[in-house]
Amino acid sequence: MRIDIITIFPEMFEGPFTESIIKRAIQKGLVEIHLHNLRDYSTDKHKRVDDYAFSSGAGMVMMIEPVDNCISKLKSEREYDEVIYMSPDGELLTQPLANQMSLYNNIIILCGHYKGIDERIREHLITKEISIGNYVLSGGELGAAVLTDSLVRLIPGVLSDETSALSDSFQSGLVSPPVYTRPREYKGWSVPEVLLSGNDMIINEWKLSQAIERTKERRPEMYELLKKNNSNNL
Ligand code: SAH
Repeated sequence: MRIDIITIFPEMFEGPFTESIIKRAIQKGLVEIHLHNLRDYSTDKHKRVDDYAFSSGAGMVMMIEPVDNCISKLKSEREYDEVIYMSPDGELLTQPLANQMSLYNNIIILCGHYKGIDERIREHLITKEISIGNYVLSGGELGAAVLTDSLVRLIPGVLSDETSALSDSFQSGLVSPPVYTRPREYKGWSVPEVLLSGNDMIINEWKLSQAIERTKERRPEMYELLKKNNSNNL
């Protein structure tokens, strides 16, 4: 997968992309992430990429021309599955959406700032809008990093244990059961006996029942959906 991110703050991705799983995925050549500084595509002598909003006076808006220049250049070099704009009112990022998007080969992610971006960019250049939640961030960069992380960890070969992404929360419509590690007992707080039994069948049953209980308690709407579809024999 190749991800091209258009931003006015490329340095904000230092950290999320230079550590841990994403760093290793890049090193292994499983994903290519290219950061494009929008200012490099401004024809203005001061490299401006924003201007005052028409009429409202409600702050600065990102201009269409630099964005168009950058997207056009990228599109002239390869085909893209989607040109994504990170937006608070976009489609909410969920695990099923991440699963679906992890199959893409090439995507562009545009990060907005200030009051947002000129609506004509959304109308004519953007093919998909993604929100990471119903709250407003200062810019699209943190959202783009969240989206990228959620996609990269699903690419085959990125996680060392192939099954571990599949057993994560939301993959089967359930949240994850609790997990424990050594020591067996700490300050009198002990690990559930069943996990030490060595009986895989009983352990798996316990995990499933825990996952169902937790889903019922923490994500009742997900539980109702599961019950409706009658998966997991609820
Ligand atoms: N005025 C806009 C908010 C602009 S916030 C409004 O009220 O809808 C500035 C930028 O941050 C946006 O252009 C977008 O790229 C990003 N952003 C803010 N909240 C976000 C969210 N929940 N998900 C994804 N991107 C977000």
